[in-house]
Amino acid sequence: MDRDPILLTPGPLTTTLRTKLAMLRDWGSWDSEFNAVTARLRSQLLDIVHGHETHVVVPLQGSGTFSVEAAVATVVPRDGHVLVLDNGAYCKRAFKLTQMMGRRATVLAFSEEEPVSPSALNAKLAEDASITHVVMIHCETGTGVLNPLADVAAVCEQAGRGLIVDAMSSFGAIEIDTRKVRFDALVAASGKCLEGVPGMGFVFLRKAILDRCAGNSQSLAMDLHDQHVYMEKTTQWRFTPPTHVMVALAEAVAQHVEEGGQPARLARYSENCRTLIEGMRALGLKPFLRPEVQAPIIVTFHAPTDPAYDFKRFYAAAKARGFILYPGKLTQVETFRVGCIGAIGSNEMRQAVQAMAEALQEMGVAG
Ligand SMILES: *Cc1c(COP(=O)(O)O)cnc(C)c1O
Repeated sequence: MDRDPILLTPGPLTTTLRTKLAMLRDWGSWDSEFNAVTARLRSQLLDIVHGHETHVVVPLQGSGTFSVEAAVATVVPRDGHVLVLDNGAYCKRAFKLTQMMGRRATVLAFSEEEPVSPSALNAKLAEDASITHVVMIHCETGTGVLNPLADVAAVCEQAGRGLIVDAMSSFGAIEIDTRKVRFDALVAASGKCLEGVPGMGFVFLRKAILDRCAGNSQSLAMDLHDQHVYMEKTTQWRFTPPTHVMVALAEAVAQHVEEGGQPARLARYSENCRTLIEGMRALGLKPFLRPEVQAPIIVTFHAPTDPAYDFKRFYAAAKARGFILYPGKLTQVETFRVGCIGAIGSNEMRQAVQAMAEALQEMGVAG
């Protein structure tokens, strides 16, 4: 087929032609035209969270995890103590990277099927005064569960602890408003719900904590405070910027605005998610999560129990029909995941369901 497959994954995502075309130019990193693109993009990112008064946003080269690592390194002092709220795979990654950077880290474990509990967090913070920061994943992409950002932020604020949010898979689609929710750092990336291409992340940092961040990072490249200071002074990135990724993201954000911003994107993804779940139910495939806690970002489905089912064959048969699926990330149950995000609508979701139906039929899996 002379067409790119539709990516039903949590990034990279299917992008528009307009976004792809933005990458057909070369830009000099010192050039004022490119630096104007960076400045405009930073301002537009702050618009999305209504954060101009309270926050700055610092872009960083690399995939999303680079920015999570940078946020922890920059915000948490070397003798800080981080509590990671754990209800899935990305939480475990955050715990691991925190430890590897030499920060003391503790896990507060929850079931993968449920959002993290603000009251359990409250109890834990009351019991352990040494905890300086909390790390929370907004949408845990491992399962697709949405965690209660506003409630967790309120508990942290009340208890006087810092909050670092990994909002990688929710930013731009699910509401995040700095006027309602206090956080020290919030991390997102180019290749997720903003529908850019992968290659850079960005971190919102609360202005009130900025000065205290100087010198925290044990890494030169991951130092967001330094990146921020340099960018403010020179308008340039500290090290070689991902120029093509940047201009593609600027074009993607322009389309985000034209579409109607975060509420419009949420409406489209919600419709995608509904179409997907309804279609899959008709095939006898059930979501892993209950509907109340399911974010309209990525859906985990129980795999068919028929012995004829095999994810690799299912993947190949769906790919042959133009759709890229995602494996499950749960250790206890056999699952697979289907993303609802990217420059796609309910037509593509209906076609995806049809492709999966045909794939299962081809494998001889009973419906
Ligand atoms: C995508 C994602 C990341 C970053 O993953 P990378 O592979 O480094 O881009 C981090 N956290 C969550 C919740 C994600 O969905």
